[in-house]
Amino acid sequence: MAEDTLFSKIIRREIPADIVYEDELSLAFKDINPQAPVHLLIIPKQAIATVNDVNEDNAHLVGHLYVVASKLASQYGFAKDGYRLVMNCNEDGGQTVYHLHLHLLAGKAMGWPPY
Ligand code: IMP
Repeated sequence: MAEDTLFSKIIRREIPADIVYEDELSLAFKDINPQAPVHLLIIPKQAIATVNDVNEDNAHLVGHLYVVASKLASQYGFAKDGYRLVMNCNEDGGQTVYHLHLHLLAGKAMGWPPY
């Protein structure tokens, strides 16, 4: 079972967050330390620790995060200009919260590579 992280606490409304979207499977909220003019985190309500824990049974939840990202891109009006979606995995990937999350970054032209 995945660890109870601060994102689980945000889902349960035990700690505050600036929530911008919610449905039965997912939640999206503003990142507390934004790395772009728009920086949202899209998470499954089911606690999955890392991409390493994605499997055939929960893969639909990961797909759903991308559907939500697409909806938010249209809603915020940056779908055409573009945006970046990032999912960090474990230490070398830069993951700090062990509840799967999709970063949605937008509002400026991104550089590559990301380091
Ligand atoms: P990671 O480094 O890919 O695991 O991303 C974790 C993200 O969570 C970072 O971008 C943090 O700024 C963000 N974060 C940490 N605590 C909070 C919070 O309480 N609310 C919103 N975002 C948070």
